[in-house]
This record gives sequence, structure tokens and C-alpha cells, in this order.
Amino acid sequence: MVDLLGQYGKIKKEIDTAILDVVASSQYINGPEVKEFAKDLETYLSVKNVIPCANGTDALQIAMMALGLKPGDEVITANFTYVATVEVIALLNLTPVLVEVNPDTFNIDPQSLRDAITPNTKAIVPVHLYGQTADMEEIMKIAKEHNLYVIEDTAQAIGSTYTFSNGETKSTGTIGDVGTTSFFPSKNLGCYGDGGAIFTNNDELAAKIRMVANHGQSKQYYHDEIGVNSRLDSIQAAILRRKLPHLDTYIENRNRAASFYDKAFENISWLTVPYRDSRSTHVFHQYTLKTKGIDRDELRAFLNNKGVPAMIYYPVPLHKQKAYMDERYDKIDFSNTEALNECVISLPMHTELTDEQLKYITESVIAFKNN
Ligand SMILES: *Cc1c(COP(=O)(O)O)cnc(C)c1O
Repeated sequence: MVDLLGQYGKIKKEIDTAILDVVASSQYINGPEVKEFAKDLETYLSVKNVIPCANGTDALQIAMMALGLKPGDEVITANFTYVATVEVIALLNLTPVLVEVNPDTFNIDPQSLRDAITPNTKAIVPVHLYGQTADMEEIMKIAKEHNLYVIEDTAQAIGSTYTFSNGETKSTGTIGDVGTTSFFPSKNLGCYGDGGAIFTNNDELAAKIRMVANHGQSKQYYHDEIGVNSRLDSIQAAILRRKLPHLDTYIENRNRAASFYDKAFENISWLTVPYRDSRSTHVFHQYTLKTKGIDRDELRAFLNNKGVPAMIYYPVPLHKQKAYMDERYDKIDFSNTEALNECVISLPMHTELTDEQLKYITESVIAFKNN
């Protein structure tokens, strides 16, 4: 699915030097690399504050803690997503409220979002799934009407931008009150271990986020809040700082592979290629097809037999996961989400795909119907 070694090979010298320099500096925690990387990412995203942390799940948790969300507050998020989002909501004793997604974009459906709002609703967590921005124009409008916080989960969409109808363009993750991301190795900007970050243009909130991420400490040994310990290692920051200048090239490579796939499958009646929302650039964390009238799991097995990895993101909706079942969902129609769980399939997507590999993958997919 990914080729992390191939990507490393191309920047091996600068990465190796950066790692050895951190080792020689002995500033392993909160060293200068962490501050420099945060600054570089602030510039790249055009956001006032980037606060690095230990991983993308922590980033979500810290954001929710810093916003002062309290037990019983309802937090709305998409049903069709990775578990991390709903997990932290539940962990903080907030009430997760899962809503339906748009079957084309795979992202939160604004009308379902509206329908789920109650007097207890305090925040919305749009997840920019697979690398394309959710309908932020509509989501921000709803948030404003109902006075809700917006926490953007940008773990799959860093580097993407979104253009509003007034022509204003913003980096995904810098539109709501706060954005979060993950630097897990396979993410679009990945380090060589765990890492994450939180973004905000609100300086007061940034100060709170820094405090929560550092044991709720206002100054050393003075703890004003219950916090957590969540830091990005200096070595990971040094790696990320060397990789950030390559992110746009990585995104181009992913888009080139996506275009190859799109073209190969455009006339295949039993496949639907990813929908492109003209308001968002797509950074193709995943290239995800929808199948029609075939057995998706048979296709996956067929591809695996030909040596082509294929994955199902995600096979089970969150409202059917044992940990998150709730009778509140009995009356809600999740037919879009459930249909996606049945029909999606993701093909290999990374920065190092060659034409030869793409040709083999696409020919293998198309051969499924003739087998
Ligand atoms: C990867 C991911 C996360 C979690 O990131 P970690 O760094 O693994 O904790 C959260 N949300 C989404 C949508 C993700 O894809």
C-alpha cells in the first residue's frame, strides 16, 4: 500500500544527518528541532500556532480538553471514519454523536449534521477523509448559527486547501477553531515513529493547548489544569522538518497516480472513481474506489492473489462497533455509510508509484471481470 523505504532512499543523506545531529546535541525532548519544525509548519499552513504532540489521537484529545468541553457535552462526528475521532470523545466522557456521510465525498453530510444538533451539542469534528476537505463552507455556517466549536481532523488531508465561495482559500485544518493532524509513518507527512500536531489561529486557545499538552502546567511545577504528557520527539521533529519541503512534491506524485487510476477506470461500469469536490484540492491519502454489482471482497482477494495489496477503509461503521453502540442510533438512517462499508476498496497509494506498477495494478483490477 505504501513505499516508505523508497521515499526515504531519495532523502537519506539529509535525514541521516538530521538524526545524527539530534543524537549529538543530546536535546532529545523539546529541542530546537521541535520549535523550528513548528515554525516551518506554521509558515506552510499559514496558521499562527502549531503545537506538536505525540500522535494524532492525542492531538484530538488535547484540542477537546483545551476547548473546555465537559462530560455530557455532545460532539458530532462522521460515522464513516477511523476510530480515533470517536474514541477520544468517549474517553473524555463527552457524548459522541455519529452522523451520516455524503456518498460521493465520503465526508460528513451537512443536512445530517443539522438534524443531529441538540441544546447539548458543543462541537463538530469534521474528518477530511482520504485527503479531501469536508464541506467546510456549510459546516462553518452551521457552527456559527449554533455557536459550536469546529475541530478539524486533518490526519489524512495535510497540505490540502479549501476555497470558499467568496474566493478565500485556506489550508485544510486552519478553517475551524482548531485543527489536528497525525505524522504516523504512512500519513502524507509521516515521521519514523509517532507524531502529531494541533493548529489554531487563536493565540489564547494555543496557550491553553500548550498547557494541556504539558501536564496542565502554566510555569514549571505549577499545574492550573489537569493535563496530559504529549510531546513530539526531537528526532521525529528533525525528520519532519527535512520532509516538509518535499510535501508538495509528494502530493503531486499522489495526484499523478490518482490521475493514472482515474483514466484507467473511467469506462469501467462496475467502478466509480473518487469524486473531486472543486472547492478542495485532493492530497490522496487514499485512492478509494466504489464498486457496483460485484463482490468487493472477491475483488480484494483476486488482487491479493496477483500481488496487489488492497485495503478496506473502513469495513464496519462506528455505530456497529461494540464499544460505541448506542440506542440513539436505532432511529437514524445510516444507509450511505453502510453502503460505503460494503463497496469501498482502496488501491496502493504513495509517492513512489511507477508507471509500470500503476499499469500492473490497473490491469489487474480490470482483469477481475474477465476471470
Ligand atoms: C491516523 C488517523 C488518526 C490518528 O492518528 P495517530 O497518530 O495514529 O494517533 C486520527 N484520525 C484520522 C482520520 C486518522 O486517519
